[in-house]
Amino acid sequence: MRRWLAVLALAVVGSALAQPTPYSGPLFDAHLHYNNEACVHQASAACPYPLADVLARLQRNGVRAVLANSRPNDGTKALATATSAAQAAGVTVVPFVRLYRNRADYEGWPTDASIVDMVNTELAAGTAAGPYQGLGEFHLYQSPAANGPTARRLMRLAEERDLVVLAHVDDAAIDLLMAHTASQGKKLRLIWAHTGIGGTPVARVEALLARYPGLMGELSYRPGLTCDGGQLCPEWRALMLKHPGRFLIGSDTWVNGRWEQYDELMQGYRVWLGGLPTDVANGIAWGNGARLFGLPARP
Ligand SMILES: [Zn+2]
Repeated sequence: MRRWLAVLALAVVGSALAQPTPYSGPLFDAHLHYNNEACVHQASAACPYPLADVLARLQRNGVRAVLANSRPNDGTKALATATSAAQAAGVTVVPFVRLYRNRADYEGWPTDASIVDMVNTELAAGTAAGPYQGLGEFHLYQSPAANGPTARRLMRLAEERDLVVLAHVDDAAIDLLMAHTASQGKKLRLIWAHTGIGGTPVARVEALLARYPGLMGELSYRPGLTCDGGQLCPEWRALMLKHPGRFLIGSDTWVNGRWEQYDELMQGYRVWLGGLPTDVANGIAWGNGARLFGLPARP
């Protein structure tokens, strides 16, 4: 009897500790910055993450496509121009126009008409990897800034030209930005960076997904996303099972420290993706981003 109890106790402990196998398929990093302090030139003390190093990080993590943007746009162009190196690393670069030439633009852009000119110049020029596919990432530190004249113009422009928007904003600003488009947000494709970095309740996230068919949630820095063992918390798991086509993963390499952590960040995603049904994991890891930008269903 005692031996049976011991066996039973072991089985219970074993199943509590059993972890799903991490997801091992391709990843689409839908929130990547290659800012000037990462440095796109030769490796040196002042240039910690040159292009070859960045591509090696992507390759060893199974990242097969990146939504690339940078302050200023030179980093994105460098990635887009490295056609053969990117091809060798198996990485497709999806270029976005960033709205920032410098740090001051982070706050000033919603009312700065010269940003519209800069965006139009970039869109006309395109990149060596093809036309820009979207605008962003941009920030709105106060949601009313979404009503600035440049913010209005760029939301209309994005919808007219079928550009995807990558926005780091709160839930109130999602409604404000969507309202500027001709379709009232029924057609705009907008990736919500972090899906509510201030901890927007999951019910509110779901209501926004229901209201705006082109809204997607990118999950870096999302508070409350993961629980025990690095697996999804129950309400997030339920939301993803209900809306498997609406989520994306991203690194958000906004400071160099994120490049240093890049392997761990991607491994963290693989852990919770492994706890989802295979088709749901495949979509969030790769397929949703691929569909958004017309890439193959399998890289
Ligand atoms: Zn970012």
